[in-house]
Amino acid sequence: MAEITAEQVLAALKNVNDPDKGENIVDLDMIVGLQLKDGHVAFGIEVEPERGAKLEPLRKAAEMAVHDLPGVLTATVVLTAERPADAEPEPEQPRGGPPPVPEQAAFQKMDLLGIDNVIAVASGKGGVGKSTTAVNLALAMATEGKRVGLLDADIYGPSIPRMLGITEKPTQTAAGLIAPLENYGIKCMSIGFLIEEETAMIWRGPMATGALEQLITDVAWGELDCLVLDLPPGTGDIHLTMAQRVPLAGAVIVSTPQDIALADARKGLNMFEKVDVPVLGLVENMSYFSCPHCGERTEIFSHGGARKEAEKLGMDFLGEIPLDIVIRETSDDGQPIVASDPSSEHTAAYLNIAAKVWSKIDPN
Ligand code: ADP
Repeated sequence: MAEITAEQVLAALKNVNDPDKGENIVDLDMIVGLQLKDGHVAFGIEVEPERGAKLEPLRKAAEMAVHDLPGVLTATVVLTAERPADAEPEPEQPRGGPPPVPEQAAFQKMDLLGIDNVIAVASGKGGVGKSTTAVNLALAMATEGKRVGLLDADIYGPSIPRMLGITEKPTQTAAGLIAPLENYGIKCMSIGFLIEEETAMIWRGPMATGALEQLITDVAWGELDCLVLDLPPGTGDIHLTMAQRVPLAGAVIVSTPQDIALADARKGLNMFEKVDVPVLGLVENMSYFSCPHCGERTEIFSHGGARKEAEKLGMDFLGEIPLDIVIRETSDDGQPIVASDPSSEHTAAYLNIAAKVWSKIDPN
């Protein structure tokens, strides 16, 4: 099927009128941030903040108009009050002023059909091994016989498909949903399939949240015991909105033992508490250095910091994973350690963490 073009999208949107102004939303210059990627279309409709609450039908109409075009796999449309061109990177705290999406919608939890539990994997900052942990945790749950999906919501650096050795692109099912990609027995979708990374950086919360919701509701996940959600690093408003919209069974926080990372982990804990999401516990990654030659263990950072910190904060400590080249090489090669070396001690550590997580979300 021919690739959908911006002209085709705009032509379809010319049939959608602003109910208050009586003209179409293209001629009114309301379309912002139009993104096309492999049949996935995303854009914002810029509206005055005070009209946000009543324009949901307009948003829906625009979404349908685009979704019905041949060659479109998904359409992500959000109401936005600001132009992305003026946007700076996401602020740490939610901005003042009225939210561009109706408050009611922002706080309403989305329905998850067939997905029993969603667990978020979060970290206060990037590069601590959050995605590596999410992948191995998901694989560990699958090893234990669970039906597992893994959703890469890290808009700043989607890496899950690569870590799972997935190179294909998602396709559409007969029912018009997106078929998730599969490897090592787990189903996978990534926000990276929908949007370009550079765009994500300038999108405000609602746009990213809209795309994330699409990935949960428009993907043929089937029946899952658990959907593991790899969140973007940080604790900004995007995270807050995601944590509010998705009914999370709980969150796992990943941290390295360095003080600075732990301070960030603390922020993560506070954020989840703010939105009443239970924090299942803390994983200390790169906990100590495991020498690939002699197996000797070297404490590079002040080892044990995360365990102590977790105790101090009243969080459970889920386990520690060493800094080991094998973990890096396997995940960067698309063969995560839990899948490629089931009898290794690192796999045992991930299995242990998965068992603890599972016992918390399903104590029976
Ligand atoms: P984040 O999701 O927090 O940004 P990643 O999971 O992408 O971090 O990890 C960043 C880099 O560190 C990757 O190259 C990954 O393979 C590597 N890495 C993660 N955890 C470990 C570990 N325990 N030992 C060695 N390398 C690791």
